[in-house]
Amino acid sequence: MGPRTELQEMAAEMTAWRHDLHQHPELGYAETRTSRAVADRLESWGLEVHRGLGKTGVVGVLRGALGDGPALGLRADMDALPMEEESGADHRSTTPGVFHGCGHDGHTTMLLGAAKHLASTRHFAGTVHFIFQPAEEGLAGARAMMEDGLFERFPCDEVYGMHNWPQLGFGQMAVGSGPMMAASDLIKIEIEGVGAHAAMPHRGVDPVYVASQVISSLQSLVSRSTNPADAAVVSITKVEAGSASNVIPRLATLTGTCRSFRPETRDMLEAGVERIATGVAAALGATAKVTYSRGYPPTVNHPTQTQFAGEVAASLFGEEAVDRSPEPSMGGEDFAFMLEEVPGSYVWLGTGGEFDLHHPRYDFNDEALPVGASFWVELVEARLGNQSAG
Ligand SMILES: [Zn+2]
Ligand SMILES: [Zn+2]
Repeated sequence: MGPRTELQEMAAEMTAWRHDLHQHPELGYAETRTSRAVADRLESWGLEVHRGLGKTGVVGVLRGALGDGPALGLRADMDALPMEEESGADHRSTTPGVFHGCGHDGHTTMLLGAAKHLASTRHFAGTVHFIFQPAEEGLAGARAMMEDGLFERFPCDEVYGMHNWPQLGFGQMAVGSGPMMAASDLIKIEIEGVGAHAAMPHRGVDPVYVASQVISSLQSLVSRSTNPADAAVVSITKVEAGSASNVIPRLATLTGTCRSFRPETRDMLEAGVERIATGVAAALGATAKVTYSRGYPPTVNHPTQTQFAGEVAASLFGEEAVDRSPEPSMGGEDFAFMLEEVPGSYVWLGTGGEFDLHHPRYDFNDEALPVGASFWVELVEARLGNQSAG
């Protein structure tokens, strides 16, 4: 058990690819060097390559040597984060303020490793679409590829995605049916009062005080309006108002995020933010304008494909190393858009390590490269094996 020998033998090569990507990180929709490196490699291994979906996305098509069968989509993300790296690694980012702090360099490399191996064996019946997407970090690159006809041009019967998960020990995997990641929405509340001298508050309407009451009341959406057996988060993360210690300003602006798993909870949060912000503001003599922008939907795994992905993980690592009902994360993930259209599953690959995703000292665990690549190869050969899978 553990990574397959052929992929373990590619470990040094994959590590070199990963370090190269890590040294040259690119932000969402600007992954030109990365997507060129991906497309050129896929082409050199004989895959049919399509560039430019969703601006910088790439699809590699590989047909099995054992005849016709279903089509699988395997997805990796390629973008980095707008943050400064503090890892001190030899292969650290050479671009100031841009950093592979979520391990998408590792995801891209693992899927490339699997593509290289499968292109040399083609021991399956059917088609594999290797989907390299741009802009996962908040810019909906998955949706952009879909708007460019991803699933019309490359029809997939099933799709699978994988994310490295430092909180999970190395050599473990987690995949559960139902929600794995939350819906991630943006809220902006503009509160308008009446400006005044700070010493004469009765001459105005203080939007800073109103904002403080709105912030407090919004938390009732989680504590009083969410089913205790469900989960939701409301976080106000930015408070902007005022310019001087002796002036009551006219405006205060609040920005934040709402997270949820269920559609009815998401609807409740959207309606509740509007109701509370406008109602509390009105009660205190101010007005509030609420903008609620729906971001990524929840990432919801389909039962059949999740059962299958769990079996593949167990065949590699042993049943005891696979968590089949992990606690979902309140983070967001734009693979959610693909799972809304095509049945599939999103898995977490345990990588261990001291630092969480998005931490300035995080670095993808290279030891996991052959492990994740083995998962992809095993998944393809098991799902599109000799029998006529249907
Ligand atoms: Zn991330
Ligand atoms: Zn990520």
